[in-house]
Amino acid sequence: MLKILTNKNPILRKSSDYLEKITAKDKQVFKQMLDLMYEKKGIGLAAVQVGILKRLITVDIGEGPMVLINPTIIKRKGKKVPMDEGCLSLPNITVKVYRYSQIVLKTMNISGKNVEFEATDLLARVLQHEIDHLNGKLIIDYLPWHKRIALKKAYSPSISLRIND
Ligand code: ZN
Repeated sequence: MLKILTNKNPILRKSSDYLEKITAKDKQVFKQMLDLMYEKKGIGLAAVQVGILKRLITVDIGEGPMVLINPTIIKRKGKKVPMDEGCLSLPNITVKVYRYSQIVLKTMNISGKNVEFEATDLLARVLQHEIDHLNGKLIIDYLPWHKRIALKKAYSPSISLRIND
């Protein structure tokens, strides 16, 4: 059974690996990630959050489940808009994060095909949040430095690595 890594776990700071192809085992991971995401009432989950360093994410903003492999943002459009975000790996914290309202992504789908699509508003936001996870980035990294220092005790060592960004 998969478990969500939280707070101080240094794995959350690692960059995830690209997949060359999707295997039956990866599909099994997707299924378990979706189950866990629904159980925790999340709208997005990255594999690194369950300790798997592969570029896999699951998303459901209420329009049905989506799975993405190697998702990459190839175009950012519109303007950056703020919204308070939470994260299953950072319980009891919300951070106001500015994100693009419109993005174009390239991703591999579950059949192993490369596709491009455009996402807007909440979907664009969740995808940007999850892709941050694949690069070892968390919402607390968007806080001003003095607030990050205040949080450092509770969330070290992960925060200390990012203090000079
Ligand atoms: Zn998150």
